[in-house]
Amino acid sequence: MQLIFEKSRAGRRAINFDALDVPEAKLAPELCRANAAALPEVGELDVVRHFTHLSQRNVGIDDTFYPLGSCTMKYNPKIAEVVAAMPGMAKLHPHQSSSAAYAGTVQGAYALIHELEAMLAEIAGMKAASIQPIAGAHGELTGALLMAAYHRDKGNTHKDTVIVPDSAHGTNPASAVMAGFKVVEVPSDSDGTLHVDKFQAVMNDRVAGVMLTCPNTHGLFESNVARIAELAHEVDALLYYDGANLNAIVGQCRPGDLGFDVMHYNLHKTFATPHGMGGPGCGPVGVGERLLPYLPGPRVVHHDGIYSLETPEKSIGRIAAFFGNFLIAVRAYAYMRFYGDEGLRDVSRVAVLNANYIHARLKHAFKPAFGKPFMHECVFTAQPQAEKGVRAMDFAKALLDRGYHAPTVYFPLTVKECLMIEPTETESKETLDAFCDTMLELARLAEECPEILQQAPITTPVGRLDEVKAAKDLNCACL
Ligand SMILES: *Cc1c(COP(=O)(O)O)cnc(C)c1O
Repeated sequence: MQLIFEKSRAGRRAINFDALDVPEAKLAPELCRANAAALPEVGELDVVRHFTHLSQRNVGIDDTFYPLGSCTMKYNPKIAEVVAAMPGMAKLHPHQSSSAAYAGTVQGAYALIHELEAMLAEIAGMKAASIQPIAGAHGELTGALLMAAYHRDKGNTHKDTVIVPDSAHGTNPASAVMAGFKVVEVPSDSDGTLHVDKFQAVMNDRVAGVMLTCPNTHGLFESNVARIAELAHEVDALLYYDGANLNAIVGQCRPGDLGFDVMHYNLHKTFATPHGMGGPGCGPVGVGERLLPYLPGPRVVHHDGIYSLETPEKSIGRIAAFFGNFLIAVRAYAYMRFYGDEGLRDVSRVAVLNANYIHARLKHAFKPAFGKPFMHECVFTAQPQAEKGVRAMDFAKALLDRGYHAPTVYFPLTVKECLMIEPTETESKETLDAFCDTMLELARLAEECPEILQQAPITTPVGRLDEVKAAKDLNCACL
């Protein structure tokens, strides 16, 4: 397929600018470019066809079932898009907030931030939340910086270590290291949860924090979380909740009540917003009492009917420009209001039911990685099939030929030939059944004619890639 630049012909235009209705700005000469930018010049029809064609080659939640585990790729109500597109939201200028003349025009946005932060705190049993971080990983970094600020303030200068389970997302250790900590990894028990004895063995006074995902990336509830919290708090270590899997427990139990001190939410996983292909996210951080004074600033506060901005005295400062990805927060707000209290409880109930339905239908064809009941995602190992030549990757590729996005494969690293399936709450029984039928058919094909799976995909615009070359040579002409 041609690049848009290759379609460029000098002088073609897709837009006409309106006549200038404000005084022309005078730019300093050093800011002006000497030569025109080499932008593609194309007619309207060319540009519309080009991007429509590209969008049709893309896969998204709006055209297929997307069972990507650990990512919660669920249907996002279009009402959230409508609300985010309202001019009072979408057309706010970030500098409007600091200008007295426009202060009245941002009160609604401030109210939304204030209410959303309060709802997030309530849902998770935290004291407060800040919507500033712009992704889950960024929320983790913020949380790790908050832990560092807390210990610095208390004179806990010897605390330099963060404990992370081996099933954790790679961003957990990365965030801890970025905040200046050393990382110690603790293995999982054979049942898939954190090995408590091995955890206890590495706990000492140097530990500043413990990062836990619950349910963890094996899809299992960390049933010893109360004991883990106790052991952490005994040495004044803070317990961090990676909220990527909050979809499984929202409205059922609260991280704060389980003993967590600090956490992030992935609004783009649990509370609407499409996020395939690394689109914008929002990873608010939530804190209990002890970390309240260090939250990023400025924060929206409410006094005498007026919303204004304040920075907590001991704040770690800004961690994003303005309010981060404000419009993602707007979508989350719309989503939560749309579902309401009971609706949000149904989200987790049905997400868990759906994952266990898939588990029940597939467990005789694919080996479950663990024996405990799963929460919102079910994890299988294709190791028995791999020994006969059909790997998890082959199942993933064969699913593409059958119109599905692949589940997560080879993550978490603790499970060999991992297939991690997260259906979410928003899929119908018919969709789940059709997917399970397809998986069962693939399991049969793996036995009978493995080459069909090994050669897949054959119907997609791009066939089987050389994975190593694609990773090492990002500019390779693989299309
Ligand atoms: C997605 C995810 C993250 C990181 O979140 P991003 O929003 O992608 O930065 C962290 N931990 C787990 C378990 C995740 O699934």
